[in-house]
Amino acid sequence: GPEDIVRDADIAMYRAKAAGRNTIRFFRQSMAAEVSQRLEMAKDLRQALEQSQFRLHYQPQVDARTQRILGMEALLRWENAQQGTIGPGRFIPVAEHSGLIRAIGLWVLRNACSQAKAWLDAGFEFSHVAVNVAGPQVQDPGFADKVEEVLAASGLPARRLQLEVTESFVMHRPSDGIRELRRLRAKGIEIAIDDFGTGYSSLSYLKQLPIDTLKIDQSFVRDIPHDTNDMAISAAVVAMAGELGLKTIAEGVETTAQANFLRDHGCRMAQGFLFSRPVSPDEVPGFFEQQVEALGPEVKAAD
Ligand code: C2E
Ligand code: MG
Ligand code: MG
Repeated sequence: GPEDIVRDADIAMYRAKAAGRNTIRFFRQSMAAEVSQRLEMAKDLRQALEQSQFRLHYQPQVDARTQRILGMEALLRWENAQQGTIGPGRFIPVAEHSGLIRAIGLWVLRNACSQAKAWLDAGFEFSHVAVNVAGPQVQDPGFADKVEEVLAASGLPARRLQLEVTESFVMHRPSDGIRELRRLRAKGIEIAIDDFGTGYSSLSYLKQLPIDTLKIDQSFVRDIPHDTNDMAISAAVVAMAGELGLKTIAEGVETTAQANFLRDHGCRMAQGFLFSRPVSPDEVPGFFEQQVEALGPEVKAAD
């Protein structure tokens, strides 16, 4: 019947979305199994929320020159009794599709803000906690108000919160979303564009966005210093960001050569396995206590 066709089309669309931008997928019977898996997972995610199976891990974002910790990015994990730890790449798309992302996202925001406040109260010095937010969250009218409520409840000052939205989200130009970002920024919250360079932003559009920071996508960092195109792109993004008055952070920095190249081209901040993997909150105080020794001692500050 028609419902079946619509369902099958939806399955194929989901596949196409998962494969990235500008792709098409034709429905195949084998895809149907995925749908029941996805429904199953949506059900499990709802339970995960009720049974507190989510955890946040934190990855430091460091000053590219001094290696001091400037920020901590909260990254979501799902501790599943049967399957162990499940990464966000597997369940965030399901959460977005099922609408559960709103509730999960709110949990993330509350948790990250209280944690950041506790660390600041304990005397650890850092400028912000970064929280990833999904398109459907930001597009909700009232999102900015919700964030303000969370900040008030946790006692974290607005300037200590950075929200990361993906470039592909802002490029879809959802007017509600942009309005919410503008309201957030007016409250003093920082806005960063995650995965920058993958979403085909036009420069004129970028200039109009209410943003503070560009996060250079891992894919441009990965092949430094071997791929001259990627090196040219990262250097150009840093230069352009500077002209537009935006800060830059490189993600996925794994080697000293990458860190040095980015730093020498003016990139302000870096984040990646070179400095630390994302770690559980109880490992974080150790970082602050021995910042210099713990964080990639082989990278020498440029002076
Ligand atoms: P992202 O925000 O771009 O986060 C960066 C991802 O790269 C993280 O994967 C991190 O663990 C990984 N990573 C960090 N440094 C390195 C490195 O040096 N090398 C490599 N190869 N990888 C590195 P993770 O934690 O699996 O998160 C994947 C994505 O899931 C995130 O990408 C983000 O888009 C999404 N995500 C994570 N937490 C949340 C959340 O709370 N809410 C929403 N909406 N999305 C989230
Ligand atoms: Mg991120
Ligand atoms: Mg990213």
